[in-house]
Amino acid sequence: MKAVRIHEFGGPEVLRYEDVPDPKPRNDQVLVRVRACALNHLDIWVRKGLPGVSLPHTLGSDIAGEIVEAGEYVSGFKPGQRVLLAPMHFCNHCAKCVAGLQNQCPEFTVLGNRVDGGNCELIAVPTVNVIPIPDSLDFNQAAAVPTVNVIPIPDSLDFNQAASVPLVFLTAWHMLVGRAGIRTGQAVLVLGASSGVGIAAIQIAKLFHARVITTAGDEKKLERARAVGADHGINHYKQKISEEVKKITNKEGVDIVIEHVGAATWEESIKSLKPAGTLVTCGATTGPNVGLELRFVYSRQLSILGSYMGTMGELYEVLAHVFAGRLKPVVDRTFPLEDIRAAHEHMEKSQMFGKIVLTA
Ligand SMILES: [Zn+2]
Repeated sequence: MKAVRIHEFGGPEVLRYEDVPDPKPRNDQVLVRVRACALNHLDIWVRKGLPGVSLPHTLGSDIAGEIVEAGEYVSGFKPGQRVLLAPMHFCNHCAKCVAGLQNQCPEFTVLGNRVDGGNCELIAVPTVNVIPIPDSLDFNQAAAVPTVNVIPIPDSLDFNQAASVPLVFLTAWHMLVGRAGIRTGQAVLVLGASSGVGIAAIQIAKLFHARVITTAGDEKKLERARAVGADHGINHYKQKISEEVKKITNKEGVDIVIEHVGAATWEESIKSLKPAGTLVTCGATTGPNVGLELRFVYSRQLSILGSYMGTMGELYEVLAHVFAGRLKPVVDRTFPLEDIRAAHEHMEKSQMFGKIVLTA
């Protein structure tokens, strides 16, 4: 099969489209023909070099495709079936895994990080990772909770849309619901509206009837963020985030900040919290080292929480909303797998709104 592998760490030039042997599924695995694999910032971090990645290595976390064959011990899947993959690897038998806390498993990693991912034509995975894509979305369910965003609802998810869901919607769900414990009607600041996590977090917060404030670098992105459901937009190049948040919230601040930008926004994010507010962070795209004034943390009784991916239970929970048409993936652009270098360059320019998807 064809795959994209890296044999050394570095810029987009280290991505090599090449022939590799077809994977042989074990008896308890499913072989999937990859049709779409969405990019995440993780792909760039791994490409540049992360500990625990052995070379040569195949990137790619968010996979949708069709079943080619299922191993002898597998039941319930048939060739041709459309599926998406849970974007993670875990042992599935330790105390954490059997308690449903897969993202605390000692072996836990994201697909495409310390294990090979989906920038290829075929991938063999354990059945626990394989989730069928419904042929049509359940609009009866969708009607029960009206959505606020104006993205057209498709009849069903195509492979590119399906691949745009797992990592970012799971991450945002775990941050807002699993970690911050969002409650109806709270005020939420979502950093980086145009990112996959930002787009997911805005929509999930609106499911809880939250008042959502978001940030982006230009008016066009803010306009699109409002279409996804944001109530207020802040241009982080022209406006000071915490000052705008104070104006919008009548000087109170927000209950929850969804952080994934890191160094560039950290101070403004902390200042935007109301007393006893909660900041949840899942990433640091502009750098991981930040200052923290402890007097501010204890006197204002702030909670600062880390969040990494989520559990299988949470993935099924958030997918139920996606399959009901209440939460919608946004695809920015697709590239053929062999043009992966251009896709990485496009991502590093940060001009996108939504997911960049590689098609195979
Ligand atoms: Zn485990």
